[in-house]
Amino acid sequence: MIKKILVANRGEIAIRIMRSCREMGIASVAVFSEADRNSMHVRFADEAYYIGPAPSNESYLRMDKIMQVAKQSHADAIHPGYGFLSENAEFADLCKKEGIIFIGPSSHAISTMGDKITARKKMLAANVPVVPGTTKALSSEEEALEVIHGIGLPVMIKATAGGGGKGMRLVDKEEEILSSLRAAKSEAMTAFGNDEVYVEKYISSPHHIEFQILADNHGNAIHLFERECSIQRRHQKVVEETPSPLMTPEVREEMGKYATAAALAVDYSGAGTIEFIMDDNLNYYFLEMNTRLQVEHPITERVVGIDLVREQINIANNKELSYKQEDLSQNGHAIECRIYAEDPENNFMPSPGLIQHITEPLGFGVRHDGYVYEGYEIPIYYDPMISKLIVWGKTRQEAIDRMKRALFAYKITGVKTSIKFLERIMNAPDFVSGKYNTHFIEDNKKFLADMKKCEGDCKAMAIIAAFVDYDERLKNLQPAKITANSMSNWKTCGRKKSIARL
Ligand code: ADP
Ligand code: ADP
Ligand code: MG
Repeated sequence: MIKKILVANRGEIAIRIMRSCREMGIASVAVFSEADRNSMHVRFADEAYYIGPAPSNESYLRMDKIMQVAKQSHADAIHPGYGFLSENAEFADLCKKEGIIFIGPSSHAISTMGDKITARKKMLAANVPVVPGTTKALSSEEEALEVIHGIGLPVMIKATAGGGGKGMRLVDKEEEILSSLRAAKSEAMTAFGNDEVYVEKYISSPHHIEFQILADNHGNAIHLFERECSIQRRHQKVVEETPSPLMTPEVREEMGKYATAAALAVDYSGAGTIEFIMDDNLNYYFLEMNTRLQVEHPITERVVGIDLVREQINIANNKELSYKQEDLSQNGHAIECRIYAEDPENNFMPSPGLIQHITEPLGFGVRHDGYVYEGYEIPIYYDPMISKLIVWGKTRQEAIDRMKRALFAYKITGVKTSIKFLERIMNAPDFVSGKYNTHFIEDNKKFLADMKKCEGDCKAMAIIAAFVDYDERLKNLQPAKITANSMSNWKTCGRKKSIARL
C-alpha cells in the first residue's frame, strides 16, 4: 500500500493532489525549483526538496533528480500531475525500473496514445470513429499537396507529438497550404523536438467534447460522462462545463461506450480522457487521448461525486474499481473558469508579478483550486494559470448565475487577470443559450472586449469604491527580497515533518 507520494509538479495541481493524499493518510513530498522556494506547494507538503534552477528542463523535467528525491525520501509512488513528466513514457519506465509506482498508465499506453498517428491507427482498429485523414506522417511537400487535395479543404495540419494546442494549423486556402505546413513543422520542432505532421479533415462548427475514463489493473473500465470544452482560445480551453448543452442521452451512452473501448484497447490503467470533436449534427470523431489527470477534472468530480485523485491512487494500489457504470450518474451542472495572470486588453500577454491583494470567492457551490497568496510573486518560467474556479448548480442557469457571482467576488490586484473577460463570457448570449462551438471567442470578440460592461459591477459601485480604496493602501506593499540562500520559515516548516503536519 502506498504510504508516501512524491508529487512531481507545482502550482494548483500539486496542492490538489496533496489534498487527497492528506485525506487518505498518505504523506506527500514536494519538489521545487529555485523560482518556487516560496511557492505554496512547498508549504503544503510534508517534506520538500530543492531540485534545480527555475527553467523546467533543469528542474521539473529532470527525471534523474526527481528519482533521486523519491529514493532519498522513501516515497513509494510518484504522481506527475498534468504537463511536465505526466505524459512521458520514458519516465513511467524509469519509475518501473526503480521500483517506484508511477501513478498513471503503463509506458506502452502513454507512447501509443502520445503519438497522434499511432493513436489514430489503434482507434481505427478498435472501431472507434476517428477524424477522417491520414494515418501516416507527411514525407514531402508534394505528398502534402496530394493528400490535402484528396481530403479537400479545410484541413488541420497537426503535429504527431502535439499537445497544449501547439503545432497545429487550420488551412482553408489553397495558397496557404505550404506556408501553414512549414509553420506547423517548425512550431512542432521547437515545442516537441519532432516535426512530424499529418492531416485531418477540419470538422466545421466543431465542438470539443471529452469523456473522463477510469480503468483498473483488472480489466475494468468505466466512464464518468462528458465535459464540454469548446470555449477555447488558440486551441486551448478557457471554460469547461458538464453536462454538455449539446449532448443527448443516446449519444452520451454511445460515446461513453467508445471511450471505455478506447481505454481497453490500450490496456489502460488509471484516469484518462478521450477527446472527441463533434459537429452540429452530433457526428463525432476521436481526436486524441490524454493519458493523465486533466486540468478540468474538478467539474466531473463535482457532478459525478468522485474524487479522481483518490481513484488514481486506489488503482495504483492495484485495487479494483469500486464503481460499476450503472452506479454513476450526473447530478446538476458544473462550470470551470481558468483564471490566468494575463492581460485580456493586451492580446492576453502573460502578466507575472507580485500579488498585492487576493480575495477568493467562497460560498455554497464554489470550489477554488489555486496556489497564490498575498505577497507571492508569480514566476515568469511556468504556465501563467493562477487558479481554477469551479461552481456547481442544480441547473445550468443556476451554475452560470453562481459563476457570475463568484467571478464578481474574486479580486486580485498586482497582476492583470482574465477575470473580467470570463465575466463577459458568462454574460454572452451565445454562452447563456448553450449554442456555441470552438469559434465562440472569435465570433463574440466585440462583445467580450467590452469588459467595462460587466453587469455585476454597475450594481455594486459601492463595493468597488471600497475595494479601490483598499487597493490604493496596498499599493505600497513591496515584494519580499528573496535571494538564492534566503530561507523562509514556511520552507523550514515544510522540511520538518512534525511541524508541517500540524
Ligand atoms: P487539458 O486538456 O488538461 O486542459 P492542456 O492541453 O491545456 O490539457 O494541457 C495541460 C497542461 O499540460 C498545460 O500546462 C500544457 O502546457 C501541458 N501540456 C499538454 N500537452 C503537453 C505536451 N505534449 N508536452 C508538454 N506539455 C504539455
Ligand atoms: P492538443 O493535443 O494540442 O490538445 P487536439 O488534437 O486535442 O490537440 O486539438 C485541440 C483543439 O483543436 C480541439 O479542441 C479543437 O478545438 C481543435 N481541433 C483539432 N482538430 C480539429 C479538427 N480536425 N477539426 C476541427 N477542430 C479541431
Ligand atoms: Mg487535446
